[in-house]
Amino acid sequence: VSDLVHSVHRLMRIADSTRRLKVRANADTPGDAERAVKMGAEGIGLVRTEHMFLGDRRVLVENLVLAANAKQRKKALKALMEPQRDDFIGIMEAMGDLPMTIRLLDPPLHEFLPDITELSVKVARAEESGEDSDSRDRMVLGAVRRLHEQNPMLGLRGVRLGLTIPGLFGTQTRAILEAVLEVRKRGGDPKVEIMIPLVSSIRELWEIKAEIEGVIKDVCEESGESIDAPIGTMIELPRAALRADEIAEDADFFSFGTNDLTQTTWGFSRDDVEGGFFFTYKDRGILTHSPFETLDQYGVGELVRIGAERGRRTKPDLKLGVCGEHGGDPDSIHFFHWVGLDYVSCSPFRVPVARLEAGRAKLLEKDFTPHH
Ligand code: PEP
Ligand code: MG
Repeated sequence: VSDLVHSVHRLMRIADSTRRLKVRANADTPGDAERAVKMGAEGIGLVRTEHMFLGDRRVLVENLVLAANAKQRKKALKALMEPQRDDFIGIMEAMGDLPMTIRLLDPPLHEFLPDITELSVKVARAEESGEDSDSRDRMVLGAVRRLHEQNPMLGLRGVRLGLTIPGLFGTQTRAILEAVLEVRKRGGDPKVEIMIPLVSSIRELWEIKAEIEGVIKDVCEESGESIDAPIGTMIELPRAALRADEIAEDADFFSFGTNDLTQTTWGFSRDDVEGGFFFTYKDRGILTHSPFETLDQYGVGELVRIGAERGRRTKPDLKLGVCGEHGGDPDSIHFFHWVGLDYVSCSPFRVPVARLEAGRAKLLEKDFTPHH
């Protein structure tokens, strides 16, 4: 066994000294971050902050989204601060001086709002029985009806939420920066990057960036410290890839979100991908595997290539990564190497495989030039 362990370590060392691509991990908790570091991740490519609000904390996002006036919104935003700051501190401590990309809130609303059918039944029953239905239930139902979407994955998510709820992204930024200051006090030196999700237009970026930069300036003035926090964007919608030259003017880095990019390029729902018609496609040989598993180089991959090329046309040294599921897929890693990304980011458990494959990608230099 010790021979085997020795050989594996040797192989990893060779892969690490060969590869050009860096390997980061997606991590949302201090535990994930520790695992990532143990697996050899060179940073975190994606902290999904919406995952910090699952379970008991779901109500915090619910209260924010349902806030009926500025006063309620302010209260709800304040309640979001502390739990986030504490989580960020834990992740930063686990990462030491490795970079971490924290993505601002990107929840599909249906995951955070109360179920509309259940709530309707509850309110209707209360009214029928002549009980005075809890006015909160009735009020919440009204708001949930207003916010209900037929296609939540194409709805009020990511940057759209940030623009709709003033102060949301600013509050998250403050939680990040206060965590940085706290970890510095404890002797650490965290490196944070702030990432905006679901951007498709430079104008979205302008507005959110102004909000984030305002908060950075305030926190630096208040604390008397300087904090360098690059601000970048996900490229996960076809329009963002196509307009990458323009978007790059205001982004310090890009991270390709190939999950949403696959969904929106193919028009396949990522949540229903194992559903009925997909089997028909496999049976008929129209598709041999899910494009959510291995990057489709002539469609989604082509958009990644276009996004990378156009982004770097504007900024030749623009940092580029990928944080969708494909970041840990061996075949897709060869493609990302060829496209010239700086890093892939995948789940902590896939980091060793990604390191090996990135090494093989450098040795093999596969050519993905499209031949039509
Ligand atoms: C993506 O869309 O590829 C991505 C990384 O973001 P999420 O999976 O959280 O939508
Ligand atoms: Mg996404």
